[in-house]
Parts: sequence; structure tokens; C-alpha cells
Amino acid sequence: MKVIDLINSRKNTLFSIEIVPPLRGNNVEGIYQRIDQLIEFKPAFINITYHKDEATYSQLKSGKIIKRTISKRPGTVALTASIMNKYKVEVVPHLTCGGFSKDQAENALIDFNFLGIENLLVLQGDGGKDNDVFIPDPDGHRYAVELVEQVVKMNQGKYLDENMEQGNPSNFCIGVAGYPEKHYAAASLESDIQYLKAKVLAGAEYIVTQMFFDNQYYYDFVKKCRAAGIEVPIIPGLKPIALLNQVEVLPKLFHLHMPEDLTKEINRCKDNKEALEVGTRWSIEQSKDLIKNGAPVLHFYTLGAGNSIRKIAEAIF
Ligand code: FAD
Repeated sequence: MKVIDLINSRKNTLFSIEIVPPLRGNNVEGIYQRIDQLIEFKPAFINITYHKDEATYSQLKSGKIIKRTISKRPGTVALTASIMNKYKVEVVPHLTCGGFSKDQAENALIDFNFLGIENLLVLQGDGGKDNDVFIPDPDGHRYAVELVEQVVKMNQGKYLDENMEQGNPSNFCIGVAGYPEKHYAAASLESDIQYLKAKVLAGAEYIVTQMFFDNQYYYDFVKKCRAAGIEVPIIPGLKPIALLNQVEVLPKLFHLHMPEDLTKEINRCKDNKEALEVGTRWSIEQSKDLIKNGAPVLHFYTLGAGNSIRKIAEAIF
């Protein structure tokens, strides 16, 4: 079922999670254990992130520098299919501009289509550890909106080969990302919202937000999106703090604001166990407030969240 249909037919706020594929060399059991912990709370859908190949450089004894490209977290497509098959739940793989030429993106879309996947979160993709600035692949897309357009064309049976008159139309429901505290590269929140609107006009049916720790940013963002004419559901993304250092690290990594009260509380904790308790409590309060204010879905980022999402789900769903 499409995410948009799940949202439109919901009676209450839905629960969903994002899973990150295991690091290369690890097995899939850790992922299954995480889902096993949460499946009783009936996640409406599970997102699987995508991570493009990264270049690594090493020096031979001769002094020659060797470049190697390695995918540190491979397996998005296989994981999507295996979770759908094992848990009979909707899974939303992420598809990024980064890591794909347009032809490779089309091949990935064909794989998703053949596997019966109906949902995608379409993104520009991270710059990679060496690049703060996103550099598109040769013959790839620069902005998420262009990839949205490609998916929409395929939904109409239009493939890249212009000589092909009518191909088999896919049937993807497309979600895109939004940033309550502005995307780091955007000149202003207003221009960022205009580009977000372009993604919706191109065919995106819902938005998932970057994490935030102060709900007011989400409420203000939704208001500004509505004023700009964006009418699709806006799903809040939530990440419970699980480690002492996250009050410092997350604002730098994700360009967001950490509320002073939360920072003070975490800084008073003597270890990660206490920090996790504070983070879980904070996230429960955030969730209750978002539900009270009509959020369509609460979408939880599970990476490094320990068992806090289960505690939050027990308190909320
Ligand atoms: P875009 O919508 O392309 O926007 C990127 C920037 O360009 C913004 O500043 C925007 O204002 C500007 N812009 C947009 N269109 C135009 C235009 N036409 N002209 C000029 N400027 C423009 N990354 C991954 O690598 N893998 C993942 O699985 C992943 N999952 C994510 C899930 C969520 C919910 C979120 C919020 C982010 C995720 N990311 C992921 C990170 C994301 O790829 C980065 O934040 C990326 O920098 C921006 O992606 P986007 O799709 O919002 O980009």
C-alpha cells in the first residue's frame, strides 16, 4: 500500500521508523532484532536509507596512491525486499541522486518495481565524508526535484530511451525531505521552502522532516509551507538522544538547534545510560505534543537509539 493511502486512511497518528543498513561485514540479524522489538507497535512503514560508495585512498610501499571505492553500507534493495517479505510491512527505500547516473537510477527503479515496492523517499543524498558540498555523479541529477521528475515519468511509462514509445508504467508513491531549521546549503528558509514546493509540484506526495528537538520549529515550518501553498502531509522526523555527546554532535552534523533545557539536562547526566533516559523522556514529551497537534505520522530515526524507541512506542502507541 502507498504511504499516502496509509496516511489518508489513518484513524490516529501513525508510527514509522527509519533503519540504516548494517556496515559492510555485518549480518542482517541486528536489523531483524531491532524490528522484532518494534513490530508489535505496528509501524505503518519502515524506511531504509541509501549510502553511496565512498572513495578511500591508501599508499603503497612504492609511494603510489591507490584510490578504492567502497560501499560501506550496501544492501538497501535486498534489505527492502527481505523486510517486506519477512514482516509483511510497507518498506520505503531511499533513492538518492548521489551514487547514480540517470541510467543507473532507472535500473534501480526497475528493480524496485519488479520487487513490488510502491514507495520511495527521493533525495539529493549526502555529500559524503570529504564533501560538505554535494557533487552530482557524471550524468546524474543535481537536485532531488530532478529525480522526482524521473520517477514521475517512469510512472507514466516514459523511460530514458526516447525511442521507446511506451514502457510499463511504474506506480511509485514519492516522499521527499524537508528541513524545519533550513537545509544547510539553502540561502534562507523561504528559498528552501520554494524548492520544497517545486518537489511537491513535480509529484512528491508527502514530506518527511529532518530531526528537530523543539517542536516549535516543526509547527512554524508547517505553517510556512501551508502559506507557500504546500498542502501535502508533513511527517515529523524524531531522534531520541541516546548518548551524552549527541547534544554537541547532532547540531553540527545536522545543522539544527538543541534546546537549552535539553542540553542542560544531558550535561547533568553522569553517563550514557542516564543520557538515554533523559533523551527518551524528552522524545516522549515531543511525541505527545505532536500527536495532540495532529501530526500524521511520527517517524523515528533508529540509528544508535538503543532500546529507547521501544520505550517511546510503549508510552505512545
Ligand atoms: P534537495 O531537495 O535537492 O535540496 C538540496 C539543497 O539545494 C537545498 O539547500 C535546497 O534549498 C537547494 N535546492 C533544491 N532545488 C534547487 C534548485 N532547483 N536550484 C537551486 N537550489 C536548489 N542522505 C543520504 O545520502 N541517504 C539517505 O538515505 C538519506 N535519507 C534522508 C532522509 C531524510 C528524512 C532527510 C531529511 C535527509 C536524508 N538524507 C539522506 C540527507 C539528504 O540527502 C541531505 O540532507 C541532502 O543534503 C539534501 O537532500 P534533499 O533531498 O533535501 O535535497
